[in-house]
Amino acid sequence: MKLNPVYAMLQRARQKLLERNMDEAHIWLMKTLDAAQKSSDSLLQAKVQHLWAQSLLVKARYASDFALCDVCLEKLTTAEKLIGDQTASDFRIEILITRAYVFMAKKENDLAYSIFQEAEKWSEDYELINQNILSQCAISQYLINQNNYQLALVYVEEAEQKLDAIYPQSNELIAEILYQKTQIFLKTQEYVLMEEKAKLLLEICIAERDVEKELFAINSLSIVKSLKGDYREAMEFLLEVQEKSRQIGHRLMTANALINIGTIFAHLFNYQDALNRYLTIINDYKDVLEPNNQVIVLNNIGNIYFNTANYDDALISFLEANKSAEALNYKEMVAHTHTQLSKTYLAKDMLNESLVHAEQASFYLQDMGDVNGKQINWLNQAQAHFKLADLESAIHLAHKGLKLSQKVSDNVTLMRGYKLMSEIYEQSKDYEKAFKYESLYSATQNRFTIEQKQRQAIDLEIKYAIREKQQQIELLTKENEFQSQLIEKSDQISKQNNQLVQANEELQQFAYVVSHDLKEPLRMIGSYSQLLMQKFENSLDEKSKPYSNYVSEGVSRMNNLLDALLQYATIGKEEEEKELIDIEGIIDDVNFNLKLLIRETDAKIEFENLPSIRCLPSRMIHLFQNLIGNAIKFRNTDVPLVIKISASENENEHIFKVEDNGIGIENEHLDRIFVIFQRLHTRKQYEGTGIGLAICQKIVQGMGGRIWVESELGKGSTFWFTVIKDMRDELDF
Ligand code: ADP
Repeated sequence: MKLNPVYAMLQRARQKLLERNMDEAHIWLMKTLDAAQKSSDSLLQAKVQHLWAQSLLVKARYASDFALCDVCLEKLTTAEKLIGDQTASDFRIEILITRAYVFMAKKENDLAYSIFQEAEKWSEDYELINQNILSQCAISQYLINQNNYQLALVYVEEAEQKLDAIYPQSNELIAEILYQKTQIFLKTQEYVLMEEKAKLLLEICIAERDVEKELFAINSLSIVKSLKGDYREAMEFLLEVQEKSRQIGHRLMTANALINIGTIFAHLFNYQDALNRYLTIINDYKDVLEPNNQVIVLNNIGNIYFNTANYDDALISFLEANKSAEALNYKEMVAHTHTQLSKTYLAKDMLNESLVHAEQASFYLQDMGDVNGKQINWLNQAQAHFKLADLESAIHLAHKGLKLSQKVSDNVTLMRGYKLMSEIYEQSKDYEKAFKYESLYSATQNRFTIEQKQRQAIDLEIKYAIREKQQQIELLTKENEFQSQLIEKSDQISKQNNQLVQANEELQQFAYVVSHDLKEPLRMIGSYSQLLMQKFENSLDEKSKPYSNYVSEGVSRMNNLLDALLQYATIGKEEEEKELIDIEGIIDDVNFNLKLLIRETDAKIEFENLPSIRCLPSRMIHLFQNLIGNAIKFRNTDVPLVIKISASENENEHIFKVEDNGIGIENEHLDRIFVIFQRLHTRKQYEGTGIGLAICQKIVQGMGGRIWVESELGKGSTFWFTVIKDMRDELDF
């Protein structure tokens, strides 16, 4: 069965949206909207509105644009109104789910949740399994956002069981479930499970060209790689996410990729590149960044400044991070930033400030068990006490710090601790212990240096890979720019087209009214002047007698002109459907219509291999009849008349050619002849109204084509015209 073309267009718009090719999606959406509005299928119109809302929602989410969310809601309401009292429960539930997602984008989470629940209940009552699965996944998404991962998992697993029971399964639903599971396992740090789901998700998204979820899967896999110390591969994944998310305008995703990229660079001791990424996030992506991540980024920036001995800037960043963490009640980071502040003040020899922050850190850390970071706080305190000459406390605290450093494999703090211990014992003149710690310090430092060298080598490798990637990106960007220029142009053209259509409609109406309404008074002039002439016939002198003829000739000419004008005005008003027509058949019809003229003039009409195209048959006949009629009218009486008709095509259009060996046209008049009422001859030489070619032009333009002429005076003329190929014949479903 051949699919309704409008549904096929809708499907294409949906696919482009899934690919996050927003420009093309928009173009197809507008085409579909236009076509749907012309049909009386209100369910179809509703589906277009729904897709429109979905596409706006994507844009709104990417830009955190709440106003755009409201526009989405309006479209959804329109869709609901269009469904009216048709049943379509499945579609109604889909609209409901989209509506709730819009509220989620507006951060009205509770409202979103209650609508999701409504959708779940409704779909269950109506036994609409697909919609039921969709709504359960939506609830899972809500729960993930609320950090309730356990309950989210319960919902997804229930949805998965339902999906297992149906056949065939839609890839969309499988992907949705995998997407939820990957998110959950990422948050609960169950990396083995997460990797498994992310790989499956990636596979299915590539097949379905679901770009947003694909990027999410790649991002998740990069985290696994990075945790395994496979920085190079992790980086390759992240660069891909960064580039593609930029292309589709998903700024939050770009920001997250940048965070991960920065962190890898920092791990590889490439502080400059790490700092660049972090600063880009703070400067350009602050609006989309999740608040918690903002704290992390600020803290990471502080770390880099600290590691490059820029203590003043480190202080600024740590203070800001600390303030934000407190505002968010993000306890881990409050503790952590206090620790870092304490460490930085120590480096600046500001012992009091250092101890104040250390105390704060201890306060938050006391309930947290042996978490990474606590060891730094112990050592900060140890170092401060050492500087205050309280050696006993210093040793006690340093011991604690060393133990935890070993446990969490924090080599940097371990070295710091050994060094401190050796200094303390040196001061208390216990040289044996001092020596022991000094040796531990240098052994650890050796290991650390080797590791550092290895990581720096990886960094170099990555730099090389990035350079290659950068060149690829530059090439792609250029292509993209070119494409977006094209799209801009086509937008502009479609705007102009709309204006043109309107102007044309107005003109048509004007011409119709003029030609139609003028005929009545003209008829009166004709008949009354005739009556007058009859009445006064005998009192007229010889000179005045032909006046009567002049009047009736004028009236008849004006009548002809008005008829032609009416014909011109009514093109495009026929209620005819386009059909796939064999143009050779059209020429046969024209031959039949003009058969007397052709016989009289002994004209030869040759044609071969003319295509079949989708068009309105009556207009096509009109077009060819005018052109062939002109070729006969403007023939060269010295040579036998031959008219050749042929066609060719390119990717977008059919090109037709009507060639004669008639009197030809002077170069300077080539454009003028298509203008209404423009003629090159007197009526005495050649009968006519000067409207035929204007009609031809209008017909051709109506088919999205152009018409023009090439000619040599005395040798003949060739009229060319094009017809845009009909999409329905080009689409392959
Ligand atoms: P009409 O034929 O009524 O004059 P048209 O709009 O069809 O009006 O043509 C406009 C003018 O173009 C004609 O008057 C004629 O001068 C010129 N023309 C059209 N077709 C031909 C042709 N095949 N060869 C030479 N001149 C032509």
